[in-house]
Amino acid sequence: MLKVLVTGGAGFLGSHLAEAFLARGDAVVALDTGAQAKVRHLLHQPRFRLVVDSVMNPEILDGLAAQADLIYHLAGVVGVEHYVADPYQVLNVNINGTQNVLRAAFKHGRRVVFASTSEVYGRNPSVPWTEDADRVLGPSTIDRWCYATSKATGEHFCLAYRRLGLPVTILRYFNVYGPRLDRLDVGRVITIFMGQLLRGEPLTVIGDGHQTRCFTYVADAVQATVAAGVVASVEGQVINIGTDEETPVRRLAELMIELGGGTSTLRFVPQEAVYGESYEDVPRRVPDVTRMQQLLGLRATTSLAEGLARTIAWFRAAEPGAPSRA
Ligand code: UDP
Repeated sequence: MLKVLVTGGAGFLGSHLAEAFLARGDAVVALDTGAQAKVRHLLHQPRFRLVVDSVMNPEILDGLAAQADLIYHLAGVVGVEHYVADPYQVLNVNINGTQNVLRAAFKHGRRVVFASTSEVYGRNPSVPWTEDADRVLGPSTIDRWCYATSKATGEHFCLAYRRLGLPVTILRYFNVYGPRLDRLDVGRVITIFMGQLLRGEPLTVIGDGHQTRCFTYVADAVQATVAAGVVASVEGQVINIGTDEETPVRRLAELMIELGGGTSTLRFVPQEAVYGESYEDVPRRVPDVTRMQQLLGLRATTSLAEGLARTIAWFRAAEPGAPSRA
C-alpha cells in the first residue's frame, strides 16, 4: 500500500486521482484549501484523509511529506479568468507553493510528480508539440502568460531539485475535462458552454471558433497520472498527457448542442467581450503523445463525443434545477 500525498487533492483532477489510488488499495492524503464538494463521497473512506490547508504553509507540507511515499503536486491557481483577474495569486501560489512542496519532498527524499500544463508551449505554431518544443509566449503585459510562466518556473524548480537528487516527473496536461470540472459558467470553455447549454442559451464561441484544443477525458488523464507516479523508469521525464484528437472550438460547441439536445445555438463573440484586453488566444494546441505511449504504455481512448456525453449527464444530475432536454 502506497501512502500518496495529493496537493490540490480536492480539486477536479486531484479528486479523480485520489479515487484512482483508493481503488488500487492505496492511502491518500489530500491537501487542499477549500471546498470539499468534489471529495465528499470519499470522506468516509478510512484510507482517505482531507487536510484543509495550503501549499503556502511549509510546516504542514513538511509533516505531510514526512508521512508520504509519493507526492503529487497538483495544487495551483488555474483558469483563464484567474490569469486575467489575479495574476499575483497565480504567480505566488504556482511558484512559491511549488518551491514549498519541493523543499519538503527533498528534505524527506520523496518522489514528486508535478502537474504542469500544455499552456507552457504558449502559441508555438509548429504543432504537434514534442516535450522539447520551444515555448512561444507573448509579452508580460498580457496577463494570460503569467500562468504559463508560473508553471514553467515550477518545472525549472523541479529539474533543479532533480539535479540535487530529488526524483521528479513533470506532466503537461492538455485541456482535461469531465465530471466535477469547474462550476457551471466559470473556469474552462466546457463548463462555460455547459451552463449555457443547460439553460438553452447560445454558446459563446470566441472569435471564429477555428482555434483548436485536444480535449482529454479525465479518466484517460488520471490513468496516465497514476502510471507516472508508480513506473520507476519515468523519473526525470517530462511527458505530455492528452489526446491528439484536435477539435476546433466551434465543433466542440456544435457537438455539445448535438449531444445535449435543446434549443442552444452558436453566438460568435470577440475575445475582448469575455476576457478584456489582457488576453490572447492560442490558435492551436496539440500534443505529440509518443512519449506518453512509449514510457507509460497508454493512449487516451475516450472519444470527445463519449466523454462529453458523460460530462453533460453528470452536470445535468448535479444541477437538478437545470431544464432537461435529453
Ligand atoms: N472559449 C470560447 N468561449 C468561451 C470561453 C472560451 O470560445 O466562452 C475558447 C477560448 O477562446 C479558447 C478555448 O475556448 O480558444 C479554450 O479556452 P479555455 O479557457 O478552456 O482554456 P485554454 O485552452 O485557452 O487554456
